[in-house]
Amino acid sequence: MKIVIIGFRGTGKTVIGARLAERLGRSFIDTDTCIEEQEGMRVQELFAKRGEPFFRARERAVVQSLRHERSAVISTGGGIILEPTNIEALREGGTVFLLEAPREQVMTRIVGSGRPPLTALPLAEEIDLMLRQRQPLYRQAADFCLNTEGLTIEEVCDRIVALLSQGPISPSNRSALRAFIQKLPLSHEEAQTCTGLLDEVPINPTLRLCAVAGNPVSHSRSPPLFNHLFSIYRLNFYYTRIQWDVITDIIKAFRRLDMRGLSITIPFKELVMPFLDEVDENAAAIGAVNTVVQCGGSLVGYNTDWQGIREPLSHLQGCRATILGAGGAAAAAAFACRDLDMEVSILNRTPERGAKLAARFGCRWGALSDLPNCRSDVVINATPVGMEPDTSLPINPEDLKPGMTVFDLVYTPAETPLLQEAHARGCATISGVSMFLLQAKEQFRLFTGINVPLKRVEEAMG
Ligand code: NAP
Repeated sequence: MKIVIIGFRGTGKTVIGARLAERLGRSFIDTDTCIEEQEGMRVQELFAKRGEPFFRARERAVVQSLRHERSAVISTGGGIILEPTNIEALREGGTVFLLEAPREQVMTRIVGSGRPPLTALPLAEEIDLMLRQRQPLYRQAADFCLNTEGLTIEEVCDRIVALLSQGPISPSNRSALRAFIQKLPLSHEEAQTCTGLLDEVPINPTLRLCAVAGNPVSHSRSPPLFNHLFSIYRLNFYYTRIQWDVITDIIKAFRRLDMRGLSITIPFKELVMPFLDEVDENAAAIGAVNTVVQCGGSLVGYNTDWQGIREPLSHLQGCRATILGAGGAAAAAAFACRDLDMEVSILNRTPERGAKLAARFGCRWGALSDLPNCRSDVVINATPVGMEPDTSLPINPEDLKPGMTVFDLVYTPAETPLLQEAHARGCATISGVSMFLLQAKEQFRLFTGINVPLKRVEEAMG
């Protein structure tokens, strides 16, 4: 397994990578040095003479040549994470460590290095701007994140060596975590993989664990989907399920097991939010989190559902949309439709609940029977009506008119009774499977930094 060191400029990647390689008896590769040797000039000269795009192209070529490397320690340039295919190649058969350092330390080191500025801003502002832009990308691309503040080179190397041999779980947490895992309704393979992390010498110390958490999750299609994608990209990741009805227990286990990611489902999408260190602005506006990513002990919440709704409707910008339902999926739908400048009506079984959601997004509201009054171009079903084994419809099918687009967020079955009716009445239809695949694609990017093509997600779904 190759070891990859990433991080912002001035975080000590080269010096720590070189020392780590020496300690582990492995070869050391620095991507910037490879480019300098190939081009016969220093990075700053290359930037000045050929420009950043040329440098990035050379960097991509070097990284691709290291895709199949399996034993070296590789230190990378600070901008390596700007190109998703770099992350894919570095992650393949590798463990990625992110080094983070305080801004002042970064600044002192950059001033002393003679490296070229990347913007026209004063250095302190440039660093702040770039850290804001790049930190999410570093954190997505990393398996482990190390804060190097106050640590010597030797101490950072000690931590990496310990992680490689013992994994990230502290010995004092092991027995409580084992007891928790044993209470979960897991298959033999799932239980063995999770408890394998808790041995004194873990079977696979650098395994990154992800799960779908909620109740119920026993029939979730996410574990086989994600595990298939992890194997395609040769990632040392495993996706399992946590069926449990206390969110605080789930978050405690997630932190102590140093898990990488969670897909959050019913009933926790809102309840999980107070337990996170950060919630991204879209998830905060929607008021629900369906994805949690952990890096360096910090938990960040996202919502990928709205992207799974927005994308299939993107050709209908500015149309009139009617959303059926007023729960979490309806909130994501309202956010997506407003993002597409649509005029939105929210119709709900309990109209007062619909009114509350409508007030948040500046929409009209009413009862489900109000559909004929809405002059809808798009109808989105965000209720569970029609989900197997239910075969009922959320509305009177006669209210569906030719030319409408009907999007059913329910994805089991793929063709719901509502979609069958819509199709028979000359409407365009969009299945909830599209939403599921698109939101999973985005979740995979948040867990790994890899931008997987949708076709691959479809194939993995089977
Ligand atoms: P939720 O928060 O529980 O909200 C459910 C909404 O549906 C509520 O507004 C509820 O109305 C309404 N409803 C429930 N039963 C109904 C019935 N029999 N007749 C009419 N209205 C009814 O659930 P959610 O998280 O928003 O999820 C809703 C559905 O979206 C799920 O069942 C799932 O199929 C789908 N979904 C799909 C994806 C995907 O990837 N394709 C992702 C997320 C969700 P009241 O306010 O009156 O209770």
